[in-house]
Amino acid sequence: MTTSRDFALAELLRVFPQVLVRGRAAQHVCAECNDICDHLAQRTWAQVTREFLSSNCDVLPLLSPEAYSAYLAAWLREALLCPDEGVATMVLINLGSSPPVSGFNAEQARVIISAAREIASGSIWGPDDEATERSIAAIEETWSRVPANPAGVTPSKR
Ligand SMILES: [Zn+2]
Repeated sequence: MTTSRDFALAELLRVFPQVLVRGRAAQHVCAECNDICDHLAQRTWAQVTREFLSSNCDVLPLLSPEAYSAYLAAWLREALLCPDEGVATMVLINLGSSPPVSGFNAEQARVIISAAREIASGSIWGPDDEATERSIAAIEETWSRVPANPAGVTPSKR
C-alpha cells in the first residue's frame, strides 16, 4: 500500500532533478561553510547522506540561492523520513521564513507545500498544533506566490 508519505517522497524525486551545483554551495567562507561545500560538491540532492543532513539540520539559510533550489529536496526527504527530528522542525521554519524561491517553478512549489503538510502531520505535535498551523500558513503564503513560469531548474532539463 502506498502511504501519503511514500507519495510525497516519490513526488520529490519526480519534480526535483538531480543536478550538480557549480561553485560554492554556501556563500560564506568559514570552516562550517567549507565543510558544507565539500559535502555537497559532486553530489546531487538524492546523494546527500542522511548523516550529513541530521548533523546539518539548520544550514539551509547558509546555502546560495542556486544551491538552495538544488538541495532543498534532500532536507525535505529527511524531514519526511523523520518528522520528529531536528531536520523536520528546522525545514518547516525555513520554508516559511522568506527563503529564496526564485529558482523554483510552480509545480515544485506545490510539491513543497504538500511535503510540508505531510511533515507537519507526522510531527510529535500533530497538524492541529497552533504553532504548526501558523508555520504551514506561512509556508503556503510563501510558496503559493511562485509564478507558473519556471525560473530555474526543471525536470525536463535532466
Ligand atoms: Zn560560514
